[in-house]
Amino acid sequence: MITSNDIWVIGDKQIKYDLALLSKAHSMAEVCAGKVFAVMLYETDPDYCIRAGADEVYLLQGLEKIADDAAIAHALASLLRENRPGTVLFQATVRGRAIAPAVAALLSTGLTADCIDLKMEESGLLLQKRPALGDSIIAEIVCDKLRPQMATVRPGVLEDPTFQEKRTGKVSIIPIEINALVTKTGFMPAQSSELLSEAKIIIAGGVGIGSREGFEYLREIALQIGGCVGASRAAVDAGYAPYTWQIGQTGIAVKPNLYIAVGISGAVHHLVGMNASDYIVAINRDAKAPILQYADYAIVGEWRHILEQWFLSYQERKVCI
Ligand SMILES: Cc1cc2nc3c(=O)[nH]c(=O)nc-3n(C[C@H](O)[C@H](O)[C@H](O)COP(=O)(O)OP(=O)(O)OC[C@H]3O[C@@H](n4cnc5c(N)ncnc54)[C@H](O)[C@@H]3O)c2cc1C
Repeated sequence: MITSNDIWVIGDKQIKYDLALLSKAHSMAEVCAGKVFAVMLYETDPDYCIRAGADEVYLLQGLEKIADDAAIAHALASLLRENRPGTVLFQATVRGRAIAPAVAALLSTGLTADCIDLKMEESGLLLQKRPALGDSIIAEIVCDKLRPQMATVRPGVLEDPTFQEKRTGKVSIIPIEINALVTKTGFMPAQSSELLSEAKIIIAGGVGIGSREGFEYLREIALQIGGCVGASRAAVDAGYAPYTWQIGQTGIAVKPNLYIAVGISGAVHHLVGMNASDYIVAINRDAKAPILQYADYAIVGEWRHILEQWFLSYQERKVCI
């Protein structure tokens, strides 16, 4: 594939990092006499991209509701086939990590994932630096035979963007039509492990919860009381909750003010992850469940019945207040 020394930066909804990558691309393009193209997958002000270093900005339209990374990869690959830049850079975000390898495969080229630095040679060869061998060395990787050379770059590793107020550039709106298998219908914020490890209130479910729907119920309660949801490993293994919610020896350790253990037996592997909580409330239908011995408040009974009573009166109290 005959290519130019142009550099394409695929902007992925993290404007701060996209602009830093554009500034980096600009300084590299000066070395190899190429142009910088910002290809934005989201609606954004193209002036920022130009001032950060883009010579041309492509605003791709029609992707707002598309949640199908493979379909986006196909659309990008056909744009790249038409325009043939020498270098294509993505953010190593969740989406960038999904789309970039698919694009590389479609173009039969290589990809260096998770770079921490990039350098351009005059010839247009990209030196891609990333940790390797269990982070014990920094490897410098080149893709000397295939084009485009592609890399994802870890967000936050590059210097802040430098803006040149007087820069000018061209802006093109490119409508993209995609027959996506997956479209976005709504948005539900995910609960990350970081949030869970810092939560002051945790309501954690075990296999006794019995279903994903049961965990949805716990989540509704957690939202109401300003807490997070946790899970035992057995509940995660049963597919009721994601691994990021797992608390215990092979999950995360938590230390909230209030830990409500629901349908959890209290195996030692679970206890090590939560027994530093200030107050533990345990709900279990088995009066002999070990967790009840560790609880400040032990409630024996069917979990749903107890929670419905408890949170109904909590809501009523809130209305009264
Ligand atoms: C190396 C290793 C690492 C591990 N790491 C972890 C870890 O990080 N975290 C972790 O949690 N586990 C871990 N485990 C697994 C752990 O040993 C237990 O198997 C697990 O914690 C049990 O989960 P559970 O309490 O949800 O399930 P169970 O032990 O099956 O308990 C379910 C409880 O729900 C109660 N119940 C059932 N129905 C109801 C109802 N309707 N209402 C009220 N109560 C009800 C039952 O009485 C029972 O007490 C690990 C195991 C190993 C070997």
